Amino acid sequence: MPTLNDIRSTFLTYFEKNGHAKVPSSPLVPRNDPTLMFANSGMVQFKNLFTGVETRDYTRATSAQKCVRAGGKHNDLDNVGYTARHHTFFEMLGNFSFGDYFKSDAIPFAWNLITKELDIPADKLVVTVYHDDDEAAEIWKKVAGFSDDRIIRIATDDNFWMMGPTGPCGPSSEIFFDHGDHIWGGPPGSPNEDGDRFVEIWNLVFMQYEQFEDGSRAPLPNKSIDTGMGLERVAALLQGTNDNYATDLIRSLIEASANATSTDPDGPGKTHHRVIADHLRSTSFLLADGVMPSNDGRGYVLRRIMRRAMRHAHLLGAKDPLMHQLVPALVSQMGAAYPELTRAQALITETLKLEETRFKQTLERGLRLLDDELTGLPEGAELPGDAAFKLYDTYGFPLDLTQDALREKGRSVDTDGFDAAMAAQKELARAGWSGSGETADAAIWFDIADQHGPTDFLGYDTETAEGQI
Ligand code: ATP
Ligand code: MG
Ligand code: MG
Ligand code: MG
Repeated sequence: MPTLNDIRSTFLTYFEKNGHAKVPSSPLVPRNDPTLMFANSGMVQFKNLFTGVETRDYTRATSAQKCVRAGGKHNDLDNVGYTARHHTFFEMLGNFSFGDYFKSDAIPFAWNLITKELDIPADKLVVTVYHDDDEAAEIWKKVAGFSDDRIIRIATDDNFWMMGPTGPCGPSSEIFFDHGDHIWGGPPGSPNEDGDRFVEIWNLVFMQYEQFEDGSRAPLPNKSIDTGMGLERVAALLQGTNDNYATDLIRSLIEASANATSTDPDGPGKTHHRVIADHLRSTSFLLADGVMPSNDGRGYVLRRIMRRAMRHAHLLGAKDPLMHQLVPALVSQMGAAYPELTRAQALITETLKLEETRFKQTLERGLRLLDDELTGLPEGAELPGDAAFKLYDTYGFPLDLTQDALREKGRSVDTDGFDAAMAAQKELARAGWSGSGETADAAIWFDIADQHGPTDFLGYDTETAEGQI
């Protein structure tokens, strides 16, 4: 049974053999792109090659890219622990053509890799194409021998990719694996497509147009290819499961978490272990790439993920800080492929330990307050916004942590009330600024915070160049 590490090298070797330059993952913090919070797809580091702003000595590339999707348009944070196929941190394997080959090569490359190199049974696969992309549909028919019903035409944006409001864009084609009718879910385009039965494993983007400011499009002189395959999802199916968390690498982290807390990895704390294993990867990799926990921007996203994991550790009954104890397990699994992780091991360990030690002091009291609030509430009622705000302001509970805690109990937060409590506090703080001589700066800060939310204003909603591949 191939391991995650095996599959990563099979993929990269296959494309290297086919003339692609093997390019290392870029850091999670995108260089020269303040608009994007974290690298969230393989194409991010190649944006300037697609637009033609930059050329390099290769026109084909392959990479295994570290991705974090825990903010912005692609936010999978709330899926973790609930779906079998989403992580906040995952690896995206990709092959890229910068004005070199196009659809008629990209589809056979993908097909050969999947069915020959990885031996995935062809009869378990279905693909989607953009509804008017007859060219891609024809190639699929020819290459895979698929009948029309296995080439599903989708008319939504899911199958049309755009780099931003202007620039390269084009139709895409997604490859799905059917895990079988014992798992809930339906084929792409059907009402129950969000289940875990049909899992998207690979996304091919055919960049063939340039979009202009007035909304018109012209064919690109140099058509390009951008693809992304989810390593953990492919590992799952090759290891005979639909559950990414049952794959070798992630399972070993779950076991480390179970050992350190003397709990059953598959017992009542199962979800906690899954969240911890996932968040261990995203937090450790973010720390290794230089993000430090803080109260705004990227650092706050990191802190939110850490604190969420720490609440789950607490619920497992961990008396001592847990996350830092799991770092050796992660480094032994991923340090060879990502040496920066090994180099940063001491920093990761110390930071996790310090954060968890500090947060533990307020976590317990905050959770008690939350319980008290809930006991007084009628069945199904939302947690009042001012209570959620108190948890945020006094106990350091990010709003999403409170929401995560409530979700287990089938409840939600009155977010309008939370926003109102936040606005009221800001109003007070704003009043406090008058006469300080810094009013202009403060006003600008508050304006930005008003637009984007207090924790999000460092570019959360301003992502333009999304690697939605
Ligand atoms: P989905 O529809 O399942 O959320 P997506 O269309 O958002 O996936 P893409 O942006 O196309 O995903 O990313 C390319 C590939 O990366 C996907 O085909 C999938 O295999 C993988 N992938 C995307 N998001 C995640 C995630 N949160 N965790 C693990 N793998 C992911
Ligand atoms: Mg998605
Ligand atoms: Mg998708
Ligand atoms: Mg996709």
